[in-house]
Amino acid sequence: MSALRPGDRILVTGGSGYIASHIVAQLLEAGFEVRATVRNPDDATKTAHLRALDGAERLELVAADLMKPGDFHEPVQGCQAVVHAASSVRLRADDPQRDIVDVAVDGTRNVFDAIDAAQSVHTVVLTSSIAAIIDDAKDPSYRFTEEDWNDSATVHSAPYPLSKSLAEREAWKRAETADYRVVTISPALVLGPVFTKTHIRSSPNVLHDLLSGKFPLAPRFRFSIVDVRDVARAHIEALRRPEAQGRHILSNRGMWMRELAEVLRPEFPQHKIPRFQMPNFAMYGVALFDKRLSWDFLRRNLDVQRQLDNSKSKQALGIEYRPVHETILDTARSFVERGLL
Ligand code: NAP
Repeated sequence: MSALRPGDRILVTGGSGYIASHIVAQLLEAGFEVRATVRNPDDATKTAHLRALDGAERLELVAADLMKPGDFHEPVQGCQAVVHAASSVRLRADDPQRDIVDVAVDGTRNVFDAIDAAQSVHTVVLTSSIAAIIDDAKDPSYRFTEEDWNDSATVHSAPYPLSKSLAEREAWKRAETADYRVVTISPALVLGPVFTKTHIRSSPNVLHDLLSGKFPLAPRFRFSIVDVRDVARAHIEALRRPEAQGRHILSNRGMWMRELAEVLRPEFPQHKIPRFQMPNFAMYGVALFDKRLSWDFLRRNLDVQRQLDNSKSKQALGIEYRPVHETILDTARSFVERGLL
């Protein structure tokens, strides 16, 4: 089986994104040549942090849009490996089929078309999600593994989980006839340092909301958490280890939102961090004004503790998860360092 060799060039799609920026940083640190696609390489708000990375002289930024068939053909040329991380990372949209599902699925198809045409690629690592694994119709006592698929998401109930599920299925369909290796990484809620303001729009917004007083009380949500640096490392291990195969759940441990607040409070006493839990009925009221939340989502997720089996990530990729307290505090410290609080 194939794997990264010194001198290989790696394409990272959506390179300016929160997780992809850490993947690019670790690939550069390891000495590789990296080509990253972004929608607009001239948008300094999204690319300045990449150009400032150690090793950025080995980084090339090129334009490509998931929704434009053919856009990835040129970027993939001359690359030996691809990390496909770009996707529409949002829970709600006015047109969820077009703006979430189609971006993920048609985008994945477009990236694989380009890979097939290039004939230079030996390994593809796709950033999927536990959203493609956790079927929230299942009983909370169920322990999810890489065998599971989210089969209950619909475009109306859960467009983002549906988009990740269908995009990953598309990748596995392409893998059946491919002469390159395909590996998928399925992270839980990703936290850890942000490089720039736009990264707060992704998962770190959970902690940003807690620190900026958005919640006077902590909603009774439990999150399975993983550090962004561990997620980036998993992608690189998947590229490097020829024996790495199939799907990999990346999740350290679960924490209630109240517990996240408790970790933050001692180091950030000047912030209005909630001390008490929000009654569930009040959360349904919040959902009337917060477009990211629906009542259906709350019914399936408030007060629910999900079980995830992360043993494959440790055994097959050698991941040693960072302590979750470090993950939470480093995220908040990065907000302060970047002037985002
Ligand atoms: P992010 O910061 O929003 O990154 C997503 C990237 O996708 C952005 O760089 C964005 O580019 C790009 N993108 C969106 N639409 C595009 C389009 N039409 N054409 C080209 N690029 C497009 O989110 P992230 O958290 O890093 O997510 C990265 C990957 O991890 C995604 O596949 C996501 O589903 C997956 N994931 C994330 C989490 C999490 O907790 N964050 C958990 C599990 C899985 P622009 O900057 O131009 O918008």
